[in-house]
Amino acid sequence: MNKRDHVLNAVLLSLGISLILTRAIAWEALVAFVAIGPPIILGALLPDVDTVIGVHRKTFHNVWILGFLLVFPALFGNLHYVWIGVLTHFALDLLGNQYGMGVFYPLPGFYDIPVGVNVDSRWADVVTLLVTAFELGVVYLLVQAGLEAQLATPSIPEILQLTLTVLGV
Ligand SMILES: [Zn+2]
Repeated sequence: MNKRDHVLNAVLLSLGISLILTRAIAWEALVAFVAIGPPIILGALLPDVDTVIGVHRKTFHNVWILGFLLVFPALFGNLHYVWIGVLTHFALDLLGNQYGMGVFYPLPGFYDIPVGVNVDSRWADVVTLLVTAFELGVVYLLVQAGLEAQLATPSIPEILQLTLTVLGV
């Protein structure tokens, strides 16, 4: 997706997460949006730095970058929520269009989930909204499962536990 779609996705996702976390359309939701919107939006813009530095859809579009930003808040006490912006960027690139990314770069391989539309399609905004709705559904389920603190500062042991569970180890 293009920069406009990534920003639209990140702004709507930030707004939705703020409403989910505060459980009300109220002053608290606006404060939450002001607090978490900028890091999520910056995270959503970060992967496309590789249009200038490195190889586009590879250098900053991989699980290593995401993993680094997942553990960063627990290790250093800042960059909370940035990982959500990066992950939503990846989700939009993998689900929203038909190009894909080097998920394990610098290891070989270029991956895509075979759905989505061309970046220039007139349906790109609709697909962006659908992916955003899907992401908000996942966030809602995480919050309902009592994992809302993980959104700001993911716990390294819990990430490892979840990864092992997903891998069936
Ligand atoms: Zn991208």
